[in-house]
Amino acid sequence: MTDRAPLTEHSSTGRITVEDAHLRNLRHVDVSLPRDALVAVTGVSGSGKSSLAFGTIHGEAQRRYLESVAPFARRLIAGAVDPQVTAIHGLPPTVALEQNRTGASARSTVGTISTISNSVRLLFSRCGDYPAELRRRVGRLDSDSFSPNTAAGMCPTCQGTGTVHTPTERTMVPDPDLSIDDGAVAAWPGAWQGKNFHDILVTLGYRTDVPWRELPAAQREWILFTDETPVVTVHPVRGAHQVQRTYRGTWRSVSAYLRETLASTGSESTRRRVLSFMEHAVCPACGGRRLIPDALKVTWQGLTVDRLNALSLEDLCDRVTGTGTAGTGTTGTAGPASAEAERLLLNQLTPTLTAAVDLGLGHLSLDRAATTLSAGELQRLRLASQLHSGLFGVVYVLDEPSAGLHPTEREAVLDLVRRFIRAGNSVILVEHDMSLVAAADHVIDVGPGAGELGGEVLWSGPVEGLAGADTPTGRALAAPLPRRCADPRPATGSLRVRGTRRNLDVDITLGLGQFTVVTGVSGSGKSTLVTGVLPEVAAAAGLRTDLITQKPIGRTPRSTLATYTGLFDHVRRLFARTPDAQQRGWTVSRFSYNVAEGQCPTCHGEGTIEVELVFLPGSYTVCPDCRGARYRPETLEVTWHGHTVADILGLTVAQAREVFADQPRIAAALETLHAVGLDYLRLGQGAPELSGGEAQRIKLATELQRTPTTRRRTPTVHLLDEPTTGLHPADVDLLVTELCRLVDAGDTVVVVEHDMRVAAQADRVVDLGPGAGAEGGRVVADGTPAEVAGAATATGRALAASSRV
Ligand code: ADP
Ligand code: ADP
Ligand code: ZN
Ligand code: ZN
Repeated sequence: MTDRAPLTEHSSTGRITVEDAHLRNLRHVDVSLPRDALVAVTGVSGSGKSSLAFGTIHGEAQRRYLESVAPFARRLIAGAVDPQVTAIHGLPPTVALEQNRTGASARSTVGTISTISNSVRLLFSRCGDYPAELRRRVGRLDSDSFSPNTAAGMCPTCQGTGTVHTPTERTMVPDPDLSIDDGAVAAWPGAWQGKNFHDILVTLGYRTDVPWRELPAAQREWILFTDETPVVTVHPVRGAHQVQRTYRGTWRSVSAYLRETLASTGSESTRRRVLSFMEHAVCPACGGRRLIPDALKVTWQGLTVDRLNALSLEDLCDRVTGTGTAGTGTTGTAGPASAEAERLLLNQLTPTLTAAVDLGLGHLSLDRAATTLSAGELQRLRLASQLHSGLFGVVYVLDEPSAGLHPTEREAVLDLVRRFIRAGNSVILVEHDMSLVAAADHVIDVGPGAGELGGEVLWSGPVEGLAGADTPTGRALAAPLPRRCADPRPATGSLRVRGTRRNLDVDITLGLGQFTVVTGVSGSGKSTLVTGVLPEVAAAAGLRTDLITQKPIGRTPRSTLATYTGLFDHVRRLFARTPDAQQRGWTVSRFSYNVAEGQCPTCHGEGTIEVELVFLPGSYTVCPDCRGARYRPETLEVTWHGHTVADILGLTVAQAREVFADQPRIAAALETLHAVGLDYLRLGQGAPELSGGEAQRIKLATELQRTPTTRRRTPTVHLLDEPTTGLHPADVDLLVTELCRLVDAGDTVVVVEHDMRVAAQADRVVDLGPGAGAEGGRVVADGTPAEVAGAATATGRALAASSRV
């Protein structure tokens, strides 16, 4: 998310001075940092880096801004944004780019996020080649006409999506041998609404107890497709002991129900469910091109706008800057006014586009859906689009912009950041990559541990003073790589992977029982191989696969660390077994915050409620009734060893390990969370508060729980995509230890990784490349880390440069 807090308060000292920061685990710290400089904030995960950089510094700037635009809402703002700091002097406005924790909207694309699409549309509108007929009929098309997301531009048949969805008998009733009573109409919703449709049919005299295909065709047609909406008095068919109250119900045919739901639902899961009962085809009107016919007649450099949007950013950049094979960068269209407009528009496009290519995004295209981008790609795209804003005098606060980048591409992040600084801004980088940290003007090291064991500023000054110091960062700076594994583990079997997909074209034989790391520059096809092709190949070979991505573990605060890992089920059982609970007749469900009886009725068990601030969407504040406890007061009258169930959710993993030391099943689950470095998370921490990297490690821990000493377990192929995102080198080592534990237990581990610290410890490195997109997708080096370190590839050079054998 990009938040802006443009309230200026200049100070002559050239420094930002934070006094008594005590947000979350920060221990009343005072710290001062230079402006107009690159400041890196380091520390193990959970040490308090984000709390300082985002929570305190950006939080305070945001609070001041909000109070200046809406002084009347001061109390609400205080609830939603509380940086818990006594004072910050010399604080300019801030722009924060956090790793994407919430999903991008379904319609946003690389073009819309980078704002490049705005200029492209203007380019087509003002400087495009129009067929004479079109020019005579409409003159120029408005720039909106070139966007499938506007009423003016979208193909009316498919609403600009390029796809039409049609419900058919086969999709709505997949098994015609079933009767309606037995669920023949799969497309009906569950619960009351589905029952309602069923009962209306019964009331109307339809047979619901015979196989669907035995109903007369006219009846089937009416049930599925009619536009009639009769209203009837329904006598619900219910169990004998239930009250049978009649009501007036309105009929909707199944297809009408699906279409109406699709048009009106705001829920992504409902939308997916509804679509699963429809047939999908390329829109016949636009042929999948999403735009009105007139817009598709206009060209620039011989390309229609949809073709231009499908170019890789690298190609597009070449055309725009006139360096590519495509020629001059001018169209030679009508008149000098148009040529001048074109020059201005291209000048506007160039910086963002060039920066995007430099940041390793050259393989993306403008039409690529934002939902298919990795968190790192998304953040770098937002970073590149900042060049467009031309801001100065602000502090950029960035969260690990090196995520997803090959070591050879990280230079580009530094170049960009230096450009921001030269333009008169300051940059604060929360960062784990020691090469970027080493390039900073000033380093703030937070720690030494996570959660309660962290929260202190261990160092604030030039990096030279930190290297070699007795802190996790000091040690990592001094000794970049652990020793390379000398003897690879022998393979216990093999898995041949032949795959051609998108730009990928590989034929390799992976070793089972080995730890393989897949490397390559961004866009070279690593994710396509490991998360796209491999799961299918492994499943086809009869192997159990476990794909662990950075997708969130849930979207609402209801999904928590405790529920996701399953340990909360055991906790609730402990509470249900207490004499107090038994006496009250309370079962395990009473102790769930997702069940009405036990939960706080105000926040429905979420612990937070959304605050409606127009200028601050998606703000949550602690529930005023349960104060974040999620439960009704009565539920909390029952205690286990002196703790209420809400107390348990408030424990960190580290604290819970002590509390549950003699509860083997809970202790085992906690042990795995500890093993992947998540000691600092609270059991009740909700999905929206977790980063992609944390979510991935929670999934890994959950998987590790399944790996105990039992001999009869199925060997598994674990596939991970950049599991070190958000991890300090010290945490990376913990993670590698756990991955090796899996391999030593007989499993196979294949990870996509940029961190040479991980690659150096693998049994085998498969390097893809040589470039991105069409230039990538092939195996360019393959062997032990030592062998690949000798290869003339980007990874070979990075491995060689960073390893110490
Ligand atoms: P880092 O950025 O160094 O990984 P954080 O600043 O995110 O660390 O976390 C510091 C401490 O604050 C940790 O104990 C963490 O669990 C806790 N924490 C992080 N986010 C939240 C939050 N939204 N609410 C409450 N506690 C949090
Ligand atoms: P890497 O993981 O090495 O960064 P990817 O496997 O993500 O590379 O991408 C390889 C190629 O496939 C790139 O050209 C990329 O743009 C393209 N690609 C990846 N995912 C998608 C997708 N969901 N839709 C379209 N193209 C994609
Ligand atoms: Zn269409
Ligand atoms: Zn509540």
